[in-house]
Amino acid sequence: MPMQQRTAQAQSNTLLLEFDAISTFYGPIRALHDISMHVHSGEIVTIIGANGAGKSTLLMTIFANPAAQQGKVLYEGADITRRATNQIADLGIALVPEGRRVFPAMTVAENLLTGGLKVSAQDLRQNMDHVYDLFPLLAERRSQRAGTLSGGEQQMLAIGRGLMGKPKLLLLDEPSLGLAPLIVRQIFAKLRTIAEEGVTILLVEQNANLALKLAERGYVLVNGEIKLAGRCADLLANQEVQVAYLGG
Ligand code: ATP
Repeated sequence: MPMQQRTAQAQSNTLLLEFDAISTFYGPIRALHDISMHVHSGEIVTIIGANGAGKSTLLMTIFANPAAQQGKVLYEGADITRRATNQIADLGIALVPEGRRVFPAMTVAENLLTGGLKVSAQDLRQNMDHVYDLFPLLAERRSQRAGTLSGGEQQMLAIGRGLMGKPKLLLLDEPSLGLAPLIVRQIFAKLRTIAEEGVTILLVEQNANLALKLAERGYVLVNGEIKLAGRCADLLANQEVQVAYLGG
């Protein structure tokens, strides 16, 4: 579906994920403070922030690991704030973790299978074919050990593994980390394709420039708090954002 049409559809769609005044702690340390944000079904939303701003914590709070101590996380209108992590994953939410975390001694195909443990045999085949269509490089390397792949290929594998359960919501934790600019652009182009196929995307990134160009709306996270929010075009033009995140 063309991007404009998809955007229009996203805007008319319902809330998929909502944070209502969330605070999350590690012991006495408050990593997230009074966060309110939302993601509509069909949108690409990004959260940008520096090292240690709380981006990974925000994603892990969705999985109640750690669970928010204040506020609520709603998914399709249901309160999931303190549900068991595995039950939350079963709702159709997949995380592509920071640093890829592929299993280096397992093959590409075996890694993908770990993302589809709850999928029927027939769907598994289909989902794997779909991942191979999306990332032909992975198809070529299906019998190769993941540890021998380049960083970019490992990132593709981590995304492919996340797609194996056909998630409604794909969470990505800094997919650009440590990758060359050309590879990052290729991967972000794939994220656009994934979104066009109907998967809602929440992307946390330090690479504000690319993230704000890919997503429709964004939030700026600073020291565990949301400092700015809006349409990405407006954030890209915002002087504070330019100075702090875009080298402007
Ligand atoms: P990075 O890009 O470095 O991963 P981030 O934006 O994802 O950063 P978080 O990893 O969510 O940030 O960390 C937010 C804050 O919480 C930081 O101050 C961090 O030191 C702290 N923190 C994260 N994990 C833990 C933990 N397990 N125990 C204690 N403090 C933690």
